[in-house]
Amino acid sequence: MFQFDHVRTRFAPSPTGYMHVGNLRTALFAYLVAKSNNGRFLLRIEDTDQERQVEGAVEIIYKTLKETGLLWDEGPDIGGPVGPYIQSQRMDMFKAYAEKLVESGHAYYCFCDKERLEEVRKVQEASGIAPRYDGHCRNLSKEEVAEKLAAGVPYVIRQKVPTEGTVTFHDEVYGDVTVDCSTLDDQILIKGDGMPTYNFANVVDDHTMGITHVIRGNEYLSSTPKYNLLYEAFGWEIPKYIHCAPVMRDATHKLSKRHGDASYEDLVQMGYLTPAILNYIALLGWSPKGDREIFSLEELVKVFDISGITKSPAIFDMQKLRYINGEYIRALSPEEFYEKALPWIRRTVKSETADLRELCTVLQTRCESLGDIPEQVDFIDALPDYDIELFTSKKMKTTPETAKEALTAVLPILENLPEWNQEAIHAALFAEIEKLGVKNGWLLYPLRVAVSGKQFTPGGGIELAVVLGREETLARIRASLAKLG
Ligand code: GLU
Repeated sequence: MFQFDHVRTRFAPSPTGYMHVGNLRTALFAYLVAKSNNGRFLLRIEDTDQERQVEGAVEIIYKTLKETGLLWDEGPDIGGPVGPYIQSQRMDMFKAYAEKLVESGHAYYCFCDKERLEEVRKVQEASGIAPRYDGHCRNLSKEEVAEKLAAGVPYVIRQKVPTEGTVTFHDEVYGDVTVDCSTLDDQILIKGDGMPTYNFANVVDDHTMGITHVIRGNEYLSSTPKYNLLYEAFGWEIPKYIHCAPVMRDATHKLSKRHGDASYEDLVQMGYLTPAILNYIALLGWSPKGDREIFSLEELVKVFDISGITKSPAIFDMQKLRYINGEYIRALSPEEFYEKALPWIRRTVKSETADLRELCTVLQTRCESLGDIPEQVDFIDALPDYDIELFTSKKMKTTPETAKEALTAVLPILENLPEWNQEAIHAALFAEIEKLGVKNGWLLYPLRVAVSGKQFTPGGGIELAVVLGREETLARIRASLAKLG
């Protein structure tokens, strides 16, 4: 057996076909616990539940972890000292471990057939008892067992859970958790086909891989007493447990792909930046000390502390993700933003003349998600049909009548402008605003509506005029004047 003197955590996903937000959060916490302690982060694929196998699912796990930067130090593709790292390839070792437990009196052979178990279950059900194994084979004598084995009677190996007393385990998040042994079933460790059950394999794998901190969803909290009894029966050191409360859609529903909640891939498709998603996910169930909320992965490694993990379920808040994503968007260099934004702009903008670099300058300060962009810029190719009532704004103190006045003043100024850029347009229009003694909005809001056909746009009239270019801007102002009669 390997002896490790460093913290070792693992992410042990079952390849189900997508990485939901809760899963990614578990991976992130496991990564952070390892890295903040100079430890190692392992990837183990738990693929023994053949019914849940999905084609391509393992690739999604690799891809997501790589994209998010949660790089593993040991795993199926890179190996390591305690491989194999794919559970289905570890199958031969478990039976010997279970037999050790039989020898030490912590497990036993059970020869009950299906019919008998079904009978027991029916009786229990009829008397309102929770279904569990009734202990029929718990106390078979050595001779009886040897006889049945020799006769080839099919069997499973069950855990011999104490019938009395309590089991207590410590969880770093939930504190001491105590359960009555009478509520624990003599669970199967080795099935009729000689293969381990998931619960047994999980414990033996964690131990043989030298895992020091088990980080996982709290749906495993109720199985942990049985896991703990196994560690004790083997005389193995019990890992630190860190169970994480679920990520919820609202107060009563967990996030679920089946109910349409976004997976990591969906969020990327929706226009959220990977580091922003990761940053937001870190805050789901973990609170940093202090008010700061924006952390890169490297920074998280520095500030992460298990004591910041909270017991209460976290509610996935799209608005908060948008806010954080906006912060990441603004932190990009103009060139990076241009590269990321361009494909989104191109969803609705085919124009070859619009100044897309200028557009990006405007967008970068105002968008919270790249997914907002196509709709924000859909007026660039063609002026949408709009109602002249759009010119009415209480705030700007404008009406279709004042808009006509304003645009009539703006048109010749822009027609005669020697240069077409932000500074030139700005200077000329502000000179006019001063000359007329009007509020900025009185002149600029109608310009915005005239060139975009929209009330809300990324950037104001002047910026949009630069994006559209002189010819297109003038044509749109003329068209609006014609509309205004
Ligand atoms: N394979 C389990 C899952 O995907 C993880 C169990 C564990 O981390 O112990 O839910």
